[in-house]
This record gives sequence, C-alpha cells and structure tokens, in this order.
Amino acid sequence: MSSSPTLDIKNLHKSFGDNEVLKGIDLTANKGDVISIIGSSGSGKSTFLRCINLLEMPTSGDISVNGELIEMMTDRDGNPNIANKKQVQRIRSRLAMVFQGFNLWSHMTVIENVIEAPIHVLGLSRSDALASAEQYLKKVDLWERKDYYPSQLSGGQKQRVAIARALAVEPEVLLFDEPTSALDPELVGEVLRVMQSLAEEGRTMLVVTHEMAFARDVSTKVIFLHEGQIEEQGDPKALFDNPKSERVKQFLAPKY
Ligand code: ADP
Ligand code: MG
Repeated sequence: MSSSPTLDIKNLHKSFGDNEVLKGIDLTANKGDVISIIGSSGSGKSTFLRCINLLEMPTSGDISVNGELIEMMTDRDGNPNIANKKQVQRIRSRLAMVFQGFNLWSHMTVIENVIEAPIHVLGLSRSDALASAEQYLKKVDLWERKDYYPSQLSGGQKQRVAIARALAVEPEVLLFDEPTSALDPELVGEVLRVMQSLAEEGRTMLVVTHEMAFARDVSTKVIFLHEGQIEEQGDPKALFDNPKSERVKQFLAPKY
C-alpha cells in the first residue's frame, strides 16, 4: 500500500509586487519528520511557513496534505481564490502555527484561548473542547494556570499555551516560526523541551529556528534557505558537520 506524504509542497512561489521572495520551493514531510528551516534574516523562512498555512496566498505551486491537494489559491488574475473563510480556517487547523510573538488573545484566559478554535473551527462541543484542552495544557505543564490571562504569564508560559492551542486543533503538521526568538534566554529551554517531547511523540513539524542545537539534535532533516531557494538540505549532522555550500559554512561559522 502506498501512502501519501503528510505534507507535500511543489514548486512554491511567492512574490510581493516585483519582489519574488520564494523562487520555487519543494518540500516533502512524512509522518514524524521534524524539519528545521534555517537561513539568514530575509531569506524567506517566515513567508514560506505563512504560505503553507495560507496566511499569505502563494503566487503559484501545489500544497497537499495527506495526499489531498489544497485547492489553489489564486485565479488567473492572481487574486486569492479561497473566498470561504471557514475553508481557510479548516486548512489552517490542519497546519497549525506557533508564532514568535505568541499571538494569544489577550482578552481571553488560557483555557479560552485553547478551546476557541476547537469549538468554532472544528465544531466540538464546549465540554469536549474542555476535555481535550485539559489534556494539552497538562502536556505543556500549564493546567494549573488555565484561568490566567496571557498578561499574567511569562513569555515561556505564553509560548507553551500557544503550543497547547495549536495541538488542540489536532493538526497534521505543526509549524513553528522562531518560537523562542522573543524569549529571555532563561525561558528558551522550557519551550524547546516541549518541542522536543512533541518530536519524540512522532509529530510532524516544520520549525524555523535559530536554535542550532535543536536543529542539529532534534530534527530529522535541515533545510537552508537563501534568497527564496533551498541552498542545501539534508541529514542534520551531515549538514552541520560537513556543509557543502560555502554560504552554509559561513552561516554556521562561529561569530566570535
Ligand atoms: P525571514 O523570515 O527569513 O527573515 P521573510 O519571509 O520575513 O524572511 O521575508 C523575506 C522577504 O519578503 C523580505 O524581503 C521581506 O521584506 C519580504 N516580505 C515579507 N512579507 C512581506 C509582505 N507582507 N509584504 C511585502 N514584502 C514582504
Ligand atoms: Mg522570519
């Protein structure tokens, strides 16, 4: 029996006006793959993740989730085709994103943040959504903070809530865009530990990160982006210990 990749991206392009930011990216993730995406600032890493879950409309290319092509996206004039907000929300719930800046709803408590999408996007009953939220908040070790507001939490706790919220929609793929970059150094570890435990459970993850130890030790594959193209990709240890590209060598060289 042949099975489809969990996520299959073919020839993804994205332009903003005349600025072509993604110049044809292919990526295949099978179940349990943890793919780290590294590269200099401005290389297109965030745009790539944002296109995958349709926060930005790709200019062209194909994205399939478990063999199902996500119907694109732009008409012949290049305008977004997916008018249906519900449909976009459903796609986003299959490819849930965790942002650098947490993006929690500040007027909602922790638990309300976690049950919002399960109720309004997946159509769960409130009691089912609460039951699964408990499970996910326990997984990130924040169940006892369920009635706090985001402003009452540390950055690391906020990011762990954001991870619980992403898990609560039972996504096929978790997308992380520099999830620890906004954190004080002493709070980075608690978030990376949660991410490592998700990787160990076999979740499929795409992680844009500057945490090279995570990329090297936790990922199953590393992709180096340069100016909207994949410059080099491969096994993490091989890429870190023996990069082929001069650009990757320079990027990885100790800065001081
Ligand atoms: P990275 O995450 O690797 O730092 P980004 O994907 O944020 O890179 O940005 C890549 C390029 O795309 C940059 O030149 C940036 O200015 C441009 N860009 C990103 N988002 C937008 C946007 N919404 N409108 C116009 N240009 C954008
Ligand atoms: Mg970015």
